[in-house]
Amino acid sequence: MKNSTIKQHKQIGKELVPPFMQEPLGSVMHLCSWSKERLPEYVWIGLLRNSCNNKKDFFEKFYYLKEYMLKSFEEPTDKFSTILKLKKEDKISLFEKIKEIFGYKVLDPIIIVSNFDKDLRDSFLDKSNTNNMRISTIVDIIEKMYDRCCDFAMDIRYSALILKINKIYFPSNDMILKDAIQKYPLLENDNPLIDMYKISLSSLEGMDFIDSDYAYSKYFYEEMYLMTDCNPKVIVYPENDNMDLLIAKINELKKLILKTDEIKSDDKRDVIVGNITYIYKIVKEIIDNNLYDSIISRYVLRTITEVIVNIKFLCSREKDNPDIWEAFKDYGNSKYKMIYKRIEEGTTLSDNCKHFDEIMLKLLANETKSEEFLKVSFKDFADKNVRQKFMLVDEKDLYDTYYDYDTCFTHGYWGAIRESALLTCDNPAHNYHSVADIECNQQLINCCDDLIFLIDKIIVIMNSELGVN
Ligand SMILES: [Zn+2]
Repeated sequence: MKNSTIKQHKQIGKELVPPFMQEPLGSVMHLCSWSKERLPEYVWIGLLRNSCNNKKDFFEKFYYLKEYMLKSFEEPTDKFSTILKLKKEDKISLFEKIKEIFGYKVLDPIIIVSNFDKDLRDSFLDKSNTNNMRISTIVDIIEKMYDRCCDFAMDIRYSALILKINKIYFPSNDMILKDAIQKYPLLENDNPLIDMYKISLSSLEGMDFIDSDYAYSKYFYEEMYLMTDCNPKVIVYPENDNMDLLIAKINELKKLILKTDEIKSDDKRDVIVGNITYIYKIVKEIIDNNLYDSIISRYVLRTITEVIVNIKFLCSREKDNPDIWEAFKDYGNSKYKMIYKRIEEGTTLSDNCKHFDEIMLKLLANETKSEEFLKVSFKDFADKNVRQKFMLVDEKDLYDTYYDYDTCFTHGYWGAIRESALLTCDNPAHNYHSVADIECNQQLINCCDDLIFLIDKIIVIMNSELGVN
């Protein structure tokens, strides 16, 4: 199924809401998760589907089971936990019908997660099967069903839906939904209508899970967790062969910085040379410590993009505001001023903070002007937010990709934490849970090419703004 585009999202307040979460469906659909809460209830249908050669074969057989179940049971009986709770004679009759249609061993594997149901065992036990074989079949079915939109899972979800089609409300004036219910089993999976039908059918299911208890699903995964092993997976990314090129670039940058010694010192030169030397040093730290695929490299990329945009922004404003270079220094100094003033005045304790010396902060903050003449500004030196600065200097792409992605790392947002600090257990029966990467095995994609791209931008600035080349 195709995912929605950002344009299809709707802005509601300060959020962009994807189509599925927009009302009236949103409040219903996001309440239940397919893999965690619903999938275990339908593994029994997965086993039926798996016993058939193809979709057509399955739905031809399933039709008879559906007719039988709709006729025999007052209440929807699509969930496995509901089947296990049927009256003994009803349950045995249902099992007999399933055996008649799908074969006498078809539900044997699910015996291992059936709360020791004797009737199920008596009906389906295949003595030639071992528990390991049963476990392996159930894991295989979970894997096939895990992606709620894949063809196999959709066949199961559709089957569950039609087992209760007479028992639940559905909007009878929805023609697409009507079509989807009637025609889904007949459609080939490459038919262009299939995506539309999947979306339409998704709008119906889940409704009766709002108030459901998930006891069976919880039990199912707990049992499967104990019976199968964890398999944490490290993702291995390709090597990068451009390290020598990066070293050549950083050496070129070094030469350009050395040439700036010949330029008369003023605020502009100081600011640009200072910023670029700062970049030079952090890139050197990456190179010298081989940190290309580290978390720290992401901090560095974010800083470099921001520094590049700061310089470009200052240059673009220089004509209208020649004092902007001084304002940049004052802004940074005022940050230091606030820190040592708090310590001096006892409004904060510095005892635990060992990685700076407040006297050094004071000396630096007073370097260009006495603190008595240094305003503390609560707005940025440019009075613009970060995004505005990127836009104003024509670096939207840099913001949309580098800055936004790498900020996830510096701010400790979940995406970055999940990507770098947690491994995925590759066992579907463990619900693909995450495992702490305590041995630090997971590396990130090498950032060498990005550093080269950004250093090239800096070299262009050195050429155009300071005339060194
Ligand atoms: Zn696991």
